[in-house]
Amino acid sequence: MSTRLQIDPESAALPCEHCGHPTLHVARLVADNGTAIGQTMVCTACPRHRADPRAGVGGPADG
Ligand SMILES: [Zn+2]
Repeated sequence: MSTRLQIDPESAALPCEHCGHPTLHVARLVADNGTAIGQTMVCTACPRHRADPRAGVGGPADG
């Protein structure tokens, strides 16, 4: 089963904590059959937006 992200164009843009641009949007996770699975935050400015829990390689720890 594959899912896709559906960004709500009318959602308020929030400042992204990664790139700093106010381009963080609420996106809905929609399955192939159109069922909404959940929602996540997607930044349209960051080169990649993925919800990989193992992400966190490189860069100094936030302090
Ligand atoms: Zn960003």
